[in-house]
Amino acid sequence: MARMMVEVSKEQYDKMTCLALDVLSDYGFFHFPLAVFALAKNIGMKLIPYSTLPFEQYMSLCQKQSLDSGFTVSRLENGYNVYDTYYNDIDMQEPRQRFTIAHEIKHVVSGDCHKKFLTVKDEALADFFAKSLLAPQAIIIQEGLSSPDEYVKRFLISKQSAEFYYLATEKRKYKFGETFLFDYEREFLEKVKNADNT
Ligand SMILES: [Zn+2]
Repeated sequence: MARMMVEVSKEQYDKMTCLALDVLSDYGFFHFPLAVFALAKNIGMKLIPYSTLPFEQYMSLCQKQSLDSGFTVSRLENGYNVYDTYYNDIDMQEPRQRFTIAHEIKHVVSGDCHKKFLTVKDEALADFFAKSLLAPQAIIIQEGLSSPDEYVKRFLISKQSAEFYYLATEKRKYKFGETFLFDYEREFLEKVKNADNT
């Protein structure tokens, strides 16, 4: 997880929003707070908490800034891709663990796992994807959520992540209008509604 500033275009962020809504739709996850661990398992990720690793291995992971919250390695098993996702359940509270899993889902579904190196930009996009997956702006706008605290409660995300995301959502509302939804968001909300009715 990188924390550097990086230039990412609006189109790339929009692509992340679409990808997140596609993943939720494809796997039929329409309830929030999102059951993100279950979603990851459905995608084929094997979730391995740091607390199950030998102490020396845990310590060496914590010393690497990019691995202190989690990472994924892909391998072939009987001709199929298997994803081992390690996540820090020792130093991170539940909302942070959920964010890590959501972030790693991006690396898996977009094939980042097969790249040799991930760029700072790949990491920034995965962070944005994670927010869009855990807390879709479509839901925020439809339900009129209007404070970081409401985000925290509704989506089980960290306060820090909620504050950051709140600003982005308010900016978007200022630009496009309080209740404006993109077509792909309206389609997603329709699916959420249908899922609630069945
Ligand atoms: Zn990452």
